[in-house]
Amino acid sequence: MGRRLHLVNQLVGQYPDIPFEAIYKEDILRSGLAFSEDALRIASGYKPKAYFIFSFDLVPISEMRQGEHLRAPEEICLISGRLSFRRTIVSVRLNPNSPYKIDMSGDGRMLLFLDDIEVCEVEFQKTPEYYWKRLKNGKPITDIAPTIEWGYLLYLTIFRICQYFGRNEECQFCDINENFRQQKKTGRSYTTVKSVAEILEALEIIAENDTEIQAYTVTGGSITSQLNGQNETDFYLQYPRAIERQFPGRWISKVVVQALPKEQVQRLRDAGVQIYHPNYEVWDERLFKLLCPGKSRYIGHEQWVQRILDAAEIFGPSHVIPNFVAGVEMARPMGFPNVDRALTSTAEGLEFFMSRKIVPRFTTWCPEPLSLLGKANPEGAPLEYHVRLLRTWRDIHAKHKLPPPPGYGEPGIGRAVFSVSAFMDVIPSVITAS
Ligand code: SF4
Repeated sequence: MGRRLHLVNQLVGQYPDIPFEAIYKEDILRSGLAFSEDALRIASGYKPKAYFIFSFDLVPISEMRQGEHLRAPEEICLISGRLSFRRTIVSVRLNPNSPYKIDMSGDGRMLLFLDDIEVCEVEFQKTPEYYWKRLKNGKPITDIAPTIEWGYLLYLTIFRICQYFGRNEECQFCDINENFRQQKKTGRSYTTVKSVAEILEALEIIAENDTEIQAYTVTGGSITSQLNGQNETDFYLQYPRAIERQFPGRWISKVVVQALPKEQVQRLRDAGVQIYHPNYEVWDERLFKLLCPGKSRYIGHEQWVQRILDAAEIFGPSHVIPNFVAGVEMARPMGFPNVDRALTSTAEGLEFFMSRKIVPRFTTWCPEPLSLLGKANPEGAPLEYHVRLLRTWRDIHAKHKLPPPPGYGEPGIGRAVFSVSAFMDVIPSVITAS
């Protein structure tokens, strides 16, 4: 048995209260996926990876020998097979060197292998009708308004770069600016700043052709000074305001921007935003300073946390959902040296927020080589950390009797669609809110 398979089996045995599918999902997210030539040939007829904000790959495009960046799917569905997988949706993070590989079986089934041993069957998502369409200016709709989470969420990255620029300002785990450069270099249509008119035109096409999308996220890089003469709040709020005017209440509206002062948060709410994501990235104050130097200098950890609490007074605590990047607190050289200490810190943050009815969510750290932290930590965080985090998150969430966060679809293994971590997969399907 290969070493990785041995590790996964060991953790599956050690944590029987965590669905084994969620353990595989976390491991795939931290390690990436390889594809055989046959698998890519088939996958290229399905919904493609749109590079919706970051690269979320474990190698740069220049090292993809099979043109994976143009042929791989956005997500895969793990199902059935030798281990009887319940439906599990996983975001595709490319890594030709991963121990996880997708390949065709002799009888034509698409399978996932780990260390060359079959794990389960794999399905790809059909390309939605609107994915073939273009705007009047010729831009493909996949540039302007792609979907993720198996078609649940429209991901509107309005501004594709971040004004936190360079190693002294950028979040150290983030490759938004480098990814932008590499996408432009390949010739992909990758609009730097999407106009309100482009977004509305794309949504009109989508509204005519789609019935599955439930939510949209408006986001992009941070604006520290001005963009088109506007500050971060003025710039981003034009989009939900225009969308809600044209399509009132059609989708759940979410915005990911920085932790803003209360009066600006109120303006987001007034513009029709329903869910606010002021992402704190990492709980530990020392690490926040080191890993998010720009956010730390412009806003600071204490103020960031206070603004999350203030936002809960405006949106209601259940509709303020700050994200953290799970695993970066273990990044060398500055991170916690072991899983226990990392989880003690992260759990402290979860307890702080969940005891106030604010439910943070997390994305599993993808150590992208185009980011400073990924370059220095190509292995990411240990799988044991990710499995124990799922437990920690689930148990604190259950202790405070909180409902599943809104805007993520159904919770529970076999139902969840959130694809960049397994937190929704481990929430029991039937949950009673207090
Ligand atoms: S604020 Fe940080 S995480 Fe967000 S886009 Fe900028 S550098 Fe990346």
